[in-house]
Formats: sequence, structure tokens, C-alpha cells
Amino acid sequence: MGGPISRPMNRVLIFFSFLTLGSFVQAGNLRVASLSTVMADLAREVGGDRVEVIEIVKAGVDPHIYEPTPGDRKTIAKSQILLANGLGFEGYLNNLRPGLEKNGVRLVVGGDVVKPLQAVCSGEEAHDHSHSHSHGATDPHWWHSIPNVQAVATQIRDAFAKADPEGIATYEANAKDLNARLAALSKWVRLQLATLPKANRILVTSHEALGYFAVDNGFEIFTVQGVSTTDQPSSQNVKRLIEEIKSRKVKAIFAENIENPKVLEQITNETGAKLGGVLYADGLGSGPAATYEGMMKTNVSVIVEALK
Ligand SMILES: [Zn+2]
Repeated sequence: MGGPISRPMNRVLIFFSFLTLGSFVQAGNLRVASLSTVMADLAREVGGDRVEVIEIVKAGVDPHIYEPTPGDRKTIAKSQILLANGLGFEGYLNNLRPGLEKNGVRLVVGGDVVKPLQAVCSGEEAHDHSHSHSHGATDPHWWHSIPNVQAVATQIRDAFAKADPEGIATYEANAKDLNARLAALSKWVRLQLATLPKANRILVTSHEALGYFAVDNGFEIFTVQGVSTTDQPSSQNVKRLIEEIKSRKVKAIFAENIENPKVLEQITNETGAKLGGVLYADGLGSGPAATYEGMMKTNVSVIVEALK
């Protein structure tokens, strides 16, 4: 934050930057730590060169069972902003709050600006679980709805502008560009899914992560576990799921990139449904799924290919 002394100083720097091009860009750098792979990607897009994004929770790690290490806490303390998914996704978030306040780290929680969705809790055991989701849980996987991601991109833009006012023009231009690309992505998703008949729009996944996607795109979802990967599937729920898959003639069920309960194999064996491929449920992945856009395109392509 620019105090009374640094602010006029920065104005002087802006003036001089016209003369010494390039030297000023470094001065506005923000250090942003992220507990969310999706928000880290948005932060890189919005922040461009002005922002250094440090991923505390990385792609490929199960964020449902992640706990911050002392080293992570140090990294967070040295940042100006911390990004988190919220809606109960990071069960440890409240424990971090005192440290954030003490060190003047601003917390930006994506879940604060999205339209929250109540979890379906198709699993019998969905209420009997983890530290990270409470009873009658809200589904925390908000990024599977593109309009939510657009709202969070705007939220990140505003947080960056507040912390680094000299970068406002950059953040505004980058966020505008990003939101236009997300609108185009929405259109692309709709076009791809238009090829799927209504009766085929059933998503069977291991845990309940794609609720927002289902609501946006007219899918029904059935899951082995509840909203957390730590939920234990009950044999009764698995039995019901198998009956459902048979009676609805579901062509394929989907695995997830991080971990899968063994019952997926049992379900394919007993129903004749194929394993339709791997979906990115809890955040970004690697390769083509290393960006939000790429993750969404990968998921949609896998779904269309398996269910058409
Ligand atoms: Zn999840």
C-alpha cells in the first residue's frame, strides 16, 4: 500500500518512466500466493508482468487433503495477496487468517463473488466426512461454471488495482481481454455440447465436483463420493449407482485426474459402461489442462467423445 510518502514518489516515477522506459515496470510488482490452481491462472492472466504468482497448492495435488506446511505459511506471509477458492474448499483457511492479518496479507476468496450451489449429496455417506466440508454442504467447485470464473477474474482485477494502483490500466486491459476469451469459451462449450442428445447428458464421476457444470449445461450428475475426495463410498450407494447406470443405459463414467475410488472399476465391470476418460475436477492439470481454458476444453472434449 502506498503511504503518504510513497504515493507522490510513485507519481514522480511514472513521470520519469517515460524517459527511462522499462525500469518502472518492476517497481509495481505484486507478490501473490495462491491456494487455488484456477485462481493462480487467472492471476497470471490479469497481472501479466506486474505480478509474481506463487502456487502454494500445485496442480496434481489433492487439494481436499492438503494442509499448509510451515514453509508455505512463510511464503504466504511474504506475499501481499493470498488467493483461495473458499466455500469450505480450504478447510484450513480460518487457521491462516490471524497470520494474514498480522502480516498485512489481503485474502481474496473466489467463493465470495460467485453464485453458490447447494451440493446434491448423492452419496449416503456424503454427510459423514471430512474436515473440509460441513453438513448440507455448499459445493465449493465453483470454477466449473464459466460465469463464476468471469466474476472472479473481475474480483482479482480489483484486488490487484487496489494493491498496486499504478498498474490499474494493465489490470483492466488484461481482465477485459480475459473475460472476452471466457465468453468465447462459453460459446465454444455450448456448441460442443449441442451435439449431445438430452438423454445422454448424465455425468457419473467419482466425487461431486461437476455440479456447477451440470447446472449450466443441463446434465444430471451421479457420484460415488460426496463433495470431498475424502468421503467414503457406501456399498449401498454404489449399488444404487449401478442400478441407475443400467436403467439409464449410461454409456460411460469418468475418472478424475488425481485419485479415484477402486469402485469405479467395479461399476464398469457390473454395468458395461466404459471408462469415458479423465476429467479435471479439483483444479488445473498439466499439459493442455495447465490453463483454465485448456482444462475446460479438455473436460468438454472428453465428455462429448464418451457420451455422444
Ligand atoms: Zn473436489
